[in-house]
Amino acid sequence: MERKVRVRFAPSPTGPLHIGGVRTALYNYLFAKQHGGDLIFRIEDTDSNRFVPGAEEYIIESFKWLGIKFDEGVSFGGDHGPYRQSERREIYKTYVRQLLDNGRAYIAFDTPEELDAKRAETENFQYDATTRLQMRNSLTMTAEEVEARIAAGEQYVVRFRIEPGEDVHVDDLIRGDVVINSSILDDKVLYKSADELPTYHLANIVDDHLMEVTHVIRGEEWLPSAPLHVLLYRAFGWEDTMPRFAHLPLLLKPVGNGKLSKRDGDKLGFPVFPLEWHDPASGNVSRGYRESGYLPEAVCNFLALLGWNPGGDKELMTLDEMVQLFDLAHCSKNGAKFDYVKGFWFNREYLLRHPVEDWVPEFDRILRAEGIECSAEREATVISLMKDKVIEYAQPDGSVKKRNISFVADLWPLCRFFFEAPTAYDEKTVKKAWRENSRELMTALMDVLRGIDDFSVEGQEQVVHAWIEANGYKMGDVMNAWRLCLVGEGKGPGMYDISAFIGKEETLRRMESALKAL
Ligand code: GLU
Repeated sequence: MERKVRVRFAPSPTGPLHIGGVRTALYNYLFAKQHGGDLIFRIEDTDSNRFVPGAEEYIIESFKWLGIKFDEGVSFGGDHGPYRQSERREIYKTYVRQLLDNGRAYIAFDTPEELDAKRAETENFQYDATTRLQMRNSLTMTAEEVEARIAAGEQYVVRFRIEPGEDVHVDDLIRGDVVINSSILDDKVLYKSADELPTYHLANIVDDHLMEVTHVIRGEEWLPSAPLHVLLYRAFGWEDTMPRFAHLPLLLKPVGNGKLSKRDGDKLGFPVFPLEWHDPASGNVSRGYRESGYLPEAVCNFLALLGWNPGGDKELMTLDEMVQLFDLAHCSKNGAKFDYVKGFWFNREYLLRHPVEDWVPEFDRILRAEGIECSAEREATVISLMKDKVIEYAQPDGSVKKRNISFVADLWPLCRFFFEAPTAYDEKTVKKAWRENSRELMTALMDVLRGIDDFSVEGQEQVVHAWIEANGYKMGDVMNAWRLCLVGEGKGPGMYDISAFIGKEETLRRMESALKAL
């Protein structure tokens, strides 16, 4: 019988969710929705040493922001719970017992010091079929001795007994048939008496089985664990319902080689976390996509294409479109370079899909932080005038690159002059724009402007153009000097847009100040 597709995203709450984890969750979401299946949110918190307070809540909030919806799991409910592994101790104990009873696992008493001594003594020591009989475990002790030690409170672990010399096949939907010989695997610890908790491997397999997971879609870093997981399924007799695996390609540094890291983001100026993260231990704050002004739709679209593409050159897709088009078979085996500049592009595209009115609240926040109060309507005007401008941004090597406005916050440095009179005049622009006749021209222009009642763009344009023509002035001479007066440098939209926005009085005031200063 065809099983209903069920996939899971199973983070460990060890800190903020990395952007690679977001992509993994997104692919699971796309796959689940495409097949009318379920997406489960499971918290793998069996390693209490690595637990970080707030991480679970952070992860849930991230997905809420991104619009990635889970069908069941921690905070979502469902009938396969509990979904937090720390609440499933008793369940794991039953399954550990099962492996012990059928001889697929054994109890080992070796202390960390003994293991260290062994490693020091034997090069490349591995706890496996070749060494397990030299160690202190239930294979080398009588049942009575084992029982007596446990009764006396000695700590132990349970290890998986791996049979050597077998080719283990992992049938991966992205990588095909991955074969690993069992001899290279060690007898992994599945359970520790010290905290009465299973390790990741056991809990992961038991839960995938009990939660009826059909496909395990996860990062490439878990591929080395997959043969062990296959062997565990078999040891439990669950091979008929073993999930299909798909190991996703790594996210790579934008420049150079290796895995994408937070340092890359800090250096090049992009976040590697969905939301801002306040580290509870160090107090450090790491930037997030949300707080950096990215739209969640843009982040999803951008991430989806790092490791997958629908073929052709289709790039802009809504979540629903991606659900239709997604295909694990079209995921790349090779790592995907984290092209953060493309992320800027995506954000711009999604921003442009929104009317400028939607940009206003954030723009307003920025203005208020600068001590400027302005009506929504006027803010929308500025946004419309400036949203197609280009900004410069610095690279780590000091060089400067240009890009289109991609964030609402990009607007501010370009549009100060709408709200504040220039306090200085850019030297280069002065050299170019302030000519011998500029003073005379600006004085005359002030007279012309004073006489204009309709100070709208059109109202000014008619009168000023007629005046320029009648006097045989050069358009550039007038406009460049005028821009210098109102803006202080050679940038900005059309002159009438600026003067109409700041109004007649302010226009004349700025011209007067310029005439004094220049
Ligand atoms: N807890 C693992 C993680 O943090 C889950 C790996 C898996 O999906 O099997 O990513």
